[in-house]
Amino acid sequence: MNTLPNFLDLGLINPKRGDKYSPNLFRFLKKHRSLAQYGWVWKDPEGMRWLGYIHDGDFIGCRLMSALCGWGDVACYPQVQFVASLDVVKDFWPQYVAIGRCAIDPAHTEAFLSAENRFADRGDTRTCNWCGTQQYRQTKKRTVIETVWVNL
Ligand SMILES: [Zn+2]
Repeated sequence: MNTLPNFLDLGLINPKRGDKYSPNLFRFLKKHRSLAQYGWVWKDPEGMRWLGYIHDGDFIGCRLMSALCGWGDVACYPQVQFVASLDVVKDFWPQYVAIGRCAIDPAHTEAFLSAENRFADRGDTRTCNWCGTQQYRQTKKRTVIETVWVNL
């Protein structure tokens, strides 16, 4: 795959439309217009997600988490082996437009900024206000084995 437009409408992911959209990612894409227009999300073999595009055999972009955290450094990754190992996540942007940051965190375990209203708690259950996922609180018993030095 080469530099194909991603058809992302930035206006749809403006955090003013809802706190499910990352303010950092929005700012990042406004700053890096080429990524806003051509950036796709990719997965490497270790499961790391990247935001960028392939141009003349080089990957131009950054780690998705870097963009989400507001660290705006975009670099060129020319290693052929790296570029060949990337798989595009074709449905990422439509998912992100629909459910926001839950597309990044479907397990609902990440602590995002500006996410104080993500969940509606009700006793031992909660509902995600961004995507509708319901969860229940599960209590697990753990055995902890600790090794310490003891005087003879
Ligand atoms: Zn959710």
